Amino acid sequence: MNKPKPQILLIYTGGTIGMVKNAETGSLHAFNFDNLLKQIPELKLLSCEIKTVAFKNPIDSSNMNPEHWVEIAEIIEYSYDSFDGFVILHGSDTMSYTASALSFMLENLAKPVIFTGAQLPIGDLRTDAKENLITSIQIASLKDEENTPVINEVCLYFEYKLYRGNRTTKINAEHFQAFNSLNYPCLAESGVHLKINHQYLWKLKNTEPLKVHKKLDNRIALVKLYPGVTESYLETVLKSPELKAVIIETFGSGNCTTEAWFLNLLKKAITEEKHIINATQCVGGGVHMGQYESSNRLKEIGVISAKDMTTEAAITKLMFLLGNSISSESLKTAFETSLRGEIA
Ligand code: ASP
Repeated sequence: MNKPKPQILLIYTGGTIGMVKNAETGSLHAFNFDNLLKQIPELKLLSCEIKTVAFKNPIDSSNMNPEHWVEIAEIIEYSYDSFDGFVILHGSDTMSYTASALSFMLENLAKPVIFTGAQLPIGDLRTDAKENLITSIQIASLKDEENTPVINEVCLYFEYKLYRGNRTTKINAEHFQAFNSLNYPCLAESGVHLKINHQYLWKLKNTEPLKVHKKLDNRIALVKLYPGVTESYLETVLKSPELKAVIIETFGSGNCTTEAWFLNLLKKAITEEKHIINATQCVGGGVHMGQYESSNRLKEIGVISAKDMTTEAAITKLMFLLGNSISSESLKTAFETSLRGEIA
């Protein structure tokens, strides 16, 4: 008996992939999503059924925010049982943030959710959009012999590589290879054959139904350290009204200045029940507090480690955990534990 064709839902949020050039001004703006499918008649050749849904007002992903993440999560929630896989077209600028956020919001995910986009609009002669879109749909359609999805996680596909979404960072504004995942190997590579690296795929932990978390708390701040950072700058950030947590992007393996004012400010914030997270500003490797004297003090005063998480994953995980209003102690434990494969 013939297997039924996989049903794929294509969700268009905006971004370069579906944009056209204004002939007069030369600037890019979003166009009617129906035109996207007309641009790629090849989609009809794929052995799956594709349905589409688009944001009412497609956006440049620089305008993405937690409300949009909830909108995407709800589209998936409402159509979860009717589809075998989801492909989300998204601007590349903040795609790693959205993919990371969705990975935390979609608990017990047992189907593929693949983010993709393009550096050049779909109508451009030299576009990378077609390959990215077609292969993403193929990956979202993959089933094993038991007809269950091969991919059970939120991924990002770009320029021949499939990555775990919450491990990615946009590293290039010019090259077609715009993303990288320095702390986790790619999940699949598209060449003459589509090679799946099964050993790195997320393994389902249970058969619980999908649980969609929609509460995100963005009363947080991100501070990137630099030589010469001033006390008044950090103090101003830490005094921001309603602030719940701060991610400090430190040097190397989690190092920072040992000047007294810096440690005193952090200590004071912790006694005021603010969470302080140490994340490295390096794109590869992670935080090892205590490896150097300059990070040992942070450990002693109760700073939380982002380990080898990307800043994108750290920010969205923090919003997700704060949104779940868990106790301070549990937040530290949960933050330092891998929930969706975001930490080694
Ligand atoms: N500015 C665009 C966006 O992120 C760039 C892109 O689509 O790649 O929406």
